[in-house]
Amino acid sequence: MKVTFCGGIDQVTGSCTHLHYTPKDVQFLVDCGMVQGTPHAEFENQKPFLFDPKSLKFVLLTHAHLDHCGLIPRLYKEGFVGKVYCTRATALIAKEVLMDSARITKGELYRYNDVGRVKFHYLDQRAGFKWGQQFRLDEDLSVYALRSAHILGACSLGVVWREEHPDNEKYLKSMLFSGDIGPTTDHFNSSYLLKESQGPFKTTNYVVLESTKGGTKATDHPSRDQRLANLKTLVEQELIVGQRNLLIPAFSIHRMQEVLYDLIAVAEQGFPNHPPEYRRLWVSLDTLIAKLESGVLPKELVELLEESEMCELDQHAVLSTIILKPGKKPVIPDLLLQILDDKSIHKYALREIKELLLSCKKTRVLVSQDQLSFVAEELMKIKRLVTIPIRCESYLGNQVSKIYQKELFAQRTEDKNMYYPEDEPERRAEVFRAAIDGKSSVERFTFSSGDKPTPYRTFSRSPSIIISSSGMCDGGVVLHHLENVLKDKQFTVALTGYQSGGTNGNKLLSLMNDSEYVETLNFGETIIHTKDIKAKIVMLDGYSGHASPEIIIDNHLARLSPEATNAVFLNHGINISREGFKKTIGFSDNESVRNLNVVLPEQGKTYWLHDPQVTVVEPSTVEADIDQGGVMEVLKQINQNLVEIKNLLKAKE
Ligand SMILES: [Zn+2]
Ligand SMILES: [Zn+2]
Repeated sequence: MKVTFCGGIDQVTGSCTHLHYTPKDVQFLVDCGMVQGTPHAEFENQKPFLFDPKSLKFVLLTHAHLDHCGLIPRLYKEGFVGKVYCTRATALIAKEVLMDSARITKGELYRYNDVGRVKFHYLDQRAGFKWGQQFRLDEDLSVYALRSAHILGACSLGVVWREEHPDNEKYLKSMLFSGDIGPTTDHFNSSYLLKESQGPFKTTNYVVLESTKGGTKATDHPSRDQRLANLKTLVEQELIVGQRNLLIPAFSIHRMQEVLYDLIAVAEQGFPNHPPEYRRLWVSLDTLIAKLESGVLPKELVELLEESEMCELDQHAVLSTIILKPGKKPVIPDLLLQILDDKSIHKYALREIKELLLSCKKTRVLVSQDQLSFVAEELMKIKRLVTIPIRCESYLGNQVSKIYQKELFAQRTEDKNMYYPEDEPERRAEVFRAAIDGKSSVERFTFSSGDKPTPYRTFSRSPSIIISSSGMCDGGVVLHHLENVLKDKQFTVALTGYQSGGTNGNKLLSLMNDSEYVETLNFGETIIHTKDIKAKIVMLDGYSGHASPEIIIDNHLARLSPEATNAVFLNHGINISREGFKKTIGFSDNESVRNLNVVLPEQGKTYWLHDPQVTVVEPSTVEADIDQGGVMEVLKQINQNLVEIKNLLKAKE
């Protein structure tokens, strides 16, 4: 078996590994991701592949993040016709992610129809599927999947092949691709939505292991309880006590769903030290009183209602209002109060109104004209529960949430192979579902979702929370908010998870740590200087999707058999992380881990796995054809210059 590391080396994006099973001449890939977040990204994603897509038989996909699946449609565009093997959840999310990518890149890499050509084959929908069980891909070649708690659908993939031994005895060899590993273990469930979804490694001869967090210390993962406590304090301090607004930039895949789910849990716990506040209820009486048949409100009635302070346009109110204008047709919102029996109106209203408010039912008030004054007076006495709206804003994020909702909660009684948080309160799943499909509420909070950004005027009116993509503040709906929100001292921006260098999110993080920090943030049309930022910046810890070295060592590497494992290749990490990880493994207390042969593979290099050795195939025949005389280096330099010129021009504007 020959392995070429085509991407994900000295970087955390662009994962792509080419395998060539020489005895049967079968070529295939594990992941084919996009390079993201570097000045060369555009160039890297368009440069020729180090292999011929036409000669690939299939692709194995670990999960639906763009840095793992982003270039798959380009393979089809360039002649690949095979299948993409992955879990159903991965396929469902990847379809959304790739469509979004085709839209954002405006067809430069591939078009919608190339995305439509991707032939996903659901591994976990095969009859008799079990995690860890092999099934045949080709002659003498099979694959097995282990769950990963990184995002919904993620898995590690083991490739198993039959190798001819020098003494001619045929036997099986295997290589396990970790994909991205979530921070969940048997005792530690930070990635709560995917609780119990992490499968430990199986005995294998070779491992390709992600090393995103390779250089970090072990203790930077708060438990889920700590994470919830932090979030609760934030909501309490910023919204309930401080009456401020909160913007949470979050990635569309997994992060948005986790934050939403956590907020539902926080809302359910309640705030006993801060009982809900009640305010005067603004009620608009329905138009029956105003001769509904004519569709026109008489001037006297409008005056009367206005006098009694019963008209107030308030989009945030749970009980919406009718907009009344003399001589005009009334605008009727979704929520109206209904009291059918006008004789018992007083009693009914007092008893039922709170429930009606909390349940957000579509209701309507019906009273006769001669009772107007009485009804008005009585309703004025009722106070409204002050609610805090929480809203998820991102088209992709909401599409992904629907997949989460379906895959996580709809099948809880079915196949145990599927993903779902076990022993979760049914009610929370219900709220999650309703929050995504429409509207739901828990105590003083209402949950909803939408694709369009809430206007700043509405957002800033009263305490509310918006979760919006993207997580590093460099694109998506969140840009619309940040332009205004950052200059407003009434706002708090809570970052979730890692912010890579050069992004707006990273600059905000620097400002959080050093108030003297000087930089400019770029929001397309608008540029904001850090000195003009008045909003408070905070960091919500515990939302990383990647396991720490300690978790990987204890839960995965320690379970490998040192006799069987010939090499562990570290990819998906910058070089400092890979080197740091190699050192940590080398100093492990566990002798069998310490003795593992750790290899830092080089970009574009081919490694020949012939038990028990690994030899570098020099020079890589595939690469040599394309990269003669360092042409790629020269092109890279030209691209770098172009990027710099672009930046200079931008700065001059
Ligand atoms: Zn990932
Ligand atoms: Zn990744």
